[in-house]
Amino acid sequence: MPDSIQSQSPAPCTSASIDRLRRSGRVSWARWCPSPNFGPRPENADISLLVVHNISLPPGQFGGDAIERFFCNSLDACEHPYFETIAGMKVSAHALVRRDGTVVQFVSFLDRAWHAGRSCFQGEDECNDFSIGIELEGADDIPYTPEQYQSLAALSALAMSAWPRITRDRITGHCDIAPGRKTDPGPAFDWAHYHQQLLALGADAGEPG
Ligand SMILES: [Zn+2]
Repeated sequence: MPDSIQSQSPAPCTSASIDRLRRSGRVSWARWCPSPNFGPRPENADISLLVVHNISLPPGQFGGDAIERFFCNSLDACEHPYFETIAGMKVSAHALVRRDGTVVQFVSFLDRAWHAGRSCFQGEDECNDFSIGIELEGADDIPYTPEQYQSLAALSALAMSAWPRITRDRITGHCDIAPGRKTDPGPAFDWAHYHQQLLALGADAGEPG
């Protein structure tokens, strides 16, 4: 299946990969692991925000496939005491960047993933309607890996090319759109370093589109 092609390092932002993303919502170099937890975006929704999250299952432990099973509603609650508390939740993100930088995609960027919950960005509620949610495998206080910054920047640059309303000013953390409720991606996420990586990819537009 052409949709399942995966490679170790993100492909550059070619016009073919931008076109493909705009048309199919799929990132050509991501592993496709479809989640049932999504719906259509509202008719007039303009994809115009990127939300950075973190997740690790169990919290603070990396590796394994628990995140994938969680987003696909097949997490075994008996496997870990923490899983009992979340096993019934139906959530997703568009993509997950693993510690080694590999990207797993769960929901087409054209669809509405269930990642932000109750949220508000600059007066606009329901961020799931108009945002792309990217999870980093990680925890608030554990440094992210260089490979994760690289892949996140590549994913962001691709999304910014496909939907130019996503400018640098419209890339935010879950903590910023759900303050008091969410803390991810946490103080460990180095926004300045991430912005440098975007700059290196030529995706540094800071003005709202
Ligand atoms: Zn989050």
